[in-house]
Parts: sequence; C-alpha cells; structure tokens
Amino acid sequence: MVLGKYSIGLGDRFGHQGVAQLCAVKRAQTVGLDVVPVWNKSYREHTIIHTRPADTRAEADAAVKALDWDEPYFVDADHVSLKIIEPFIPVCDFFTLDVADYIGKKADETAIQTFVTQNSKYIGRLSIPSIEQTFHITKDLIRSIGEKYLYAIEEANRIYQHLVEQKGADNFVTEVSMDETDEPQTPVELFFILAALSARGMPVQTIAPKFTGRFNKGVDYIGDLEKFTREFEQDVAVIQFAIREFSLPTNLKLSVHSGSDKFSLYTPMRTAIQKFETGLHIKTAGTTWLEELIGLALAGGEGLDIARDVYRQAVNRYDELAKPYASVIDMDMRALPSPVDVDGWDGRQYAEILRHDQTNKKYNPHFRQLLHIGYKVAAEMGDRYLNALERYEQVVAENVCNNIYERHLKPLFVTT
Ligand SMILES: [Zn+2]
Repeated sequence: MVLGKYSIGLGDRFGHQGVAQLCAVKRAQTVGLDVVPVWNKSYREHTIIHTRPADTRAEADAAVKALDWDEPYFVDADHVSLKIIEPFIPVCDFFTLDVADYIGKKADETAIQTFVTQNSKYIGRLSIPSIEQTFHITKDLIRSIGEKYLYAIEEANRIYQHLVEQKGADNFVTEVSMDETDEPQTPVELFFILAALSARGMPVQTIAPKFTGRFNKGVDYIGDLEKFTREFEQDVAVIQFAIREFSLPTNLKLSVHSGSDKFSLYTPMRTAIQKFETGLHIKTAGTTWLEELIGLALAGGEGLDIARDVYRQAVNRYDELAKPYASVIDMDMRALPSPVDVDGWDGRQYAEILRHDQTNKKYNPHFRQLLHIGYKVAAEMGDRYLNALERYEQVVAENVCNNIYERHLKPLFVTT
C-alpha cells in the first residue's frame, strides 16, 4: 500500500464531518491538487468520546461512498503502541507507531554495537546533498544516538512485526512518530534513526519527528521561524538522501503532527517541499471540532446555546480538561472572557472570537485553546450535542469544508 505524495490527516472527534472533510479534498481536486485523505483518531480521543476505531472506518467508508470518491484514502491508527493496538488492527490501513515514550531507554549493548558498526562508514565529515553545512560524525556520536533511540526503534519494529503477522506486509502504511517528547530530533539524529529503521527492514512511508518550537493545540506555531525553516529543509534533505542510502520507500516523507493550525509554518513548508519536489503528510485533528462549534454558534438557537454551555463548563473544569494536554497548551486565564459575557454574545461574535483568523482583531487564542481541549464537555452532552450536529448540519459542514480547504490545503499545497 502506497501513500501518495500529498496527504492530510483529518481528525473528526464526533464522527459527523467525514463528508464535509472529503468535500474539501474534492475541492482541491478541482484546482488540480491531489491530496490523499487520511482519517485519524487516537486512542485518547476514542476514550474521551467513547467511540471505537471501527466507527472511524465506518465514517470514512460512508463519506467515500456518499461523494463517489474513487481515489485512495486511509484510516490511521494514530499514536498506537502494542498495548492499545488490537481494536485498530482490523479496521485501519495506516498505523502511526508511537515510540516517543521509549526514547532514552537503553537497548542492549550488542544492538548498540551493531548499530555503531553498521554506521561506522559515516564517521568523519558527512555531507548531505542540498545541505550546505557538513556534519562532523564521531563514533561517540553514533553510539549516543543509538543509546537514545535504538530501543524506541526496536519497539517500533515489534509493533510493525505484529502488524505484519496480523495483516500482511503489503496491507498497510507505516508511520513512525517521535513527536510527543520534549526535545526535538536533529537532522543528524533523523538520518541515523532512518538507518536503524531500514536495517530492520521497516518500509516506513512517513516519519514524524519532534520539531523545534511549540505546537500548542489549535493555535499557531510559537518559536523561531528561521530555525524551524532550516531544520525542516534539512530534515527533507536528510530523508531524500536516506531513501537512496538505505533503500527506503521512495515516497518516504515527513509527517507533521500539527496540533492543528500551524499557519505560519505553511509557507516555509510549502517552499521546502516544492523546492525538493517531495511530499508531505500534515495531521490536523481538533480544527474540525472547533469548526463544529463555530457552525453551531452561527446557527443560533439551540446550536448557540450549546456553544455557550460548552464554554461555561470548560472554564469551570479547566484543570481537569487541561491535564492531559498540559505540555501543549499555553493559556492565560486572565485573557478569557467570563461565561456571563459569552452568554450575551450572538453567534457571529462567538464565531469571530473563536475562528482562527489572525487578521481579525477579535480573535482570541486563549478562548480557542480552551475550547480545543473542551470537546470532552460536548462528548458528555451526548445526544444533545449529536442531535444539534444533525439539525444544523449544513452550516456546520460549510465551516468544516471551508476551513480544511481555505486555511489548510490551499496555503500548504497550492502555489500562490
Ligand atoms: Zn502526534
């Protein structure tokens, strides 16, 4: 199974927007842009919403059928480990093997020595095509990379082998993710990580490193843009070199777990992938849920009531909601409007303050981050929330589709 050049990971917490999301991908097609839709949902999201991996599969299949989509599409078991993988296996055909938790755990000495020996030909000056600087590689550096990452890579391989046994090697796409960790991986580390993945025969098609800077949920990138750009370009160059050097799949590309809406990175990323003529997988998840809220607010009536209620409860339950996301949010509570004020807003005001439009002075990133992690509140509303999604389907879908196309696909992949 081969993942196309450009692909987008679509998260849909409540499973109602598959058609609207696919509609964005179809709109891209009309301007000659082929993007592969990949529906992703993690174990954490399934647990909070009380859904199962089979629901995501059913949603994707239904959307594809409804819109007569006859191009490839995938369902991604997002961030899986051996502990939680079972229910994903029969219904997914894309697996994000998350081994971030194993970074820093030491592999056994024989494995580390083998890794050092296999890579000893790179000791000295390593130059990678399209990267100006050369890297000084020592035996100690290779060993320290092995000590830091080899165990995690072995764990990825354990998951991969399990999948091969269960599904057969050609029936799924393999991604390896190391993004949910504190320290970014350097391009040199990425190079040797790819060497080790290849040495184990893993046909990895996407890799998700941790990048420099902060990727807070639902809001824009915070960090040094120049540094990010340099790092991203070097990662792309490393991947292209590694494909040839280690005989990895020729479509191997970066996967950016964006935490939604890293708009200021879209121009540097687009420039880099066009310059290197390479692909990209961009994962978004929560952005669609926020468009649901925007759509409900704009619909007025019960929709607006729900949008206000979600906010009120999210404020009251801040500590509980923020806990699982502590490392990926930066919120100033003083910048949040009071729920009483929000009750006085009409739908248009609510939408303007929530919508990720940085040119609008009313947009409030603190409000947005809080609601981003507030989906648990909507999940607990159960039928009240789901019925509203159905009742106001049209306005919600319009916002979901527009957001994916105008704010994500277009700036990221279409030449301007
Ligand atoms: Zn991730």
